[in-house]
Amino acid sequence: MTIHSVPPLTDAASVALLRRLVEALGETHVRTAADDLALHLREERGLYHGSAIAVVRPGSTAEVAQVVRECAAAGVPLVAQGGNTGLVGGGVPYGGVVLSLARLNRVREVDELNATMVVEGGCVLAEVQRAAAEAGLLFPLSLPSEGSCRIGGNLATNAGGTAVLRYGNARELVLGLEVVLADGRIWNGLTALRKDNTGYDLKHLFMGSEGTLGIITAAVLKLFPAQRSRTTAFVGLRSAADALNLFGRLRAAAGEQLTAFEFIGRFGLELVLKHHAAAMRPLAGDHVAYALIDLASPDPEADLAGTFETVLGAAIEDGLVEDATIAASDAQRLALWDLRERLSDTQRLEGGSIKHDVAVPVSRVAEFIDEASRDCEAAMPGVRVCAFGHFGDGNIHFNLSQPVAMEKAAFLASWEMFNRIVHDIVQKMHGSISAEHGIGLIKRDELPHYKDPVALDLMHTLKAALDPRNILNPGKVLALGENLPASLPGGTPPRRIP
Ligand code: ZN
Repeated sequence: MTIHSVPPLTDAASVALLRRLVEALGETHVRTAADDLALHLREERGLYHGSAIAVVRPGSTAEVAQVVRECAAAGVPLVAQGGNTGLVGGGVPYGGVVLSLARLNRVREVDELNATMVVEGGCVLAEVQRAAAEAGLLFPLSLPSEGSCRIGGNLATNAGGTAVLRYGNARELVLGLEVVLADGRIWNGLTALRKDNTGYDLKHLFMGSEGTLGIITAAVLKLFPAQRSRTTAFVGLRSAADALNLFGRLRAAAGEQLTAFEFIGRFGLELVLKHHAAAMRPLAGDHVAYALIDLASPDPEADLAGTFETVLGAAIEDGLVEDATIAASDAQRLALWDLRERLSDTQRLEGGSIKHDVAVPVSRVAEFIDEASRDCEAAMPGVRVCAFGHFGDGNIHFNLSQPVAMEKAAFLASWEMFNRIVHDIVQKMHGSISAEHGIGLIKRDELPHYKDPVALDLMHTLKAALDPRNILNPGKVLALGENLPASLPGGTPPRRIP
């Protein structure tokens, strides 16, 4: 992969803008060298590379606002980046300036009795979790990239992850926000209230907007009692439908102690075992479907293994579960989760993959897996379905690995065909074509096919009202980037890497 070279700074307007940014932030925090830009132009999966004239690193909300004001005055767009770990190309710069939030990384306050914390947008998610734990509390958002993703990005993209079943996705974990608007004003909405019924709930505009409506510089997060006991089970089943039935039984028996119910199809587990010699084979036999299930409780004495034994024992007797194991130690628990966490990366080792991140009502998730698998296998014999994910949220990562003997490029050329097959089924089931990864670039042109036209029209209305000059992350979520002036500094649309 080649990195798009930085355009020479001959354009007088961009030279003047850079000079003003250096005056505002200092030379150290305005970088234009190709080496400094490289990490900000690439995208997690290597599908796109963008272009930019500079990456700037403001150290305070006031400095973020100043950068936005300078860019707006010069008519130069900017994209805010946290850890740049998104999976849909939402953070790829479209010319202009990359605004890195990395230096806004303070935990401003933890209020134990209110069960809230105030953090800046550039805090790494793992640091947020750690700060909550140090106060004896839990911030439950948990993602594979938590060691490098930053909370501002998590909120701007309304991230999901593995704790949604019990705690909800990112937007449900927020009480207040501080946001820099497209005109450089700062909205101080950092309220720590459980009840505030004073009109439109503005914070929800910015969460999930992927940086197109404002830049989240700080947030008031909800905290929960720490989990003091936790047990994991790994279950083998003969179908996704049986997994759904088991999910219903566990939810009824365990209530909010049920914190994760993840699905892994047979092909996914086979892949992990094939490519990772150290991976533990969880069950002796081979099954069509697997479930990875967590029970957790703030009560250190809670008999979680007992709940598992009761429910799984009855399910085995009823022929619903073929085999099951309950982790006997923390090490075993982590080894079971390790199988799940390696899934995404492992798929890379099997050639081309076409990925879908979809949601349907939980009651239809098994039907979705079966129907989409059948239709994709019929459309391309030999295609290998790697379905896994957050079954208890109705969210499946429905990924396809190329047939063994096929050329990778030929397989990837069928991206559109598979999108249509999978997303049409999703629509028929009143689902969503993006459950947790967002729209960004990769699904931007797919969105108008499936989003309610009135909803899409309202989204355009909001974008035009809050960012009339299309300064903030242009070309993402909604197709507006094409309206940018051709003379924009570094203003080439992000390119899809073949
Ligand atoms: Zn996921």
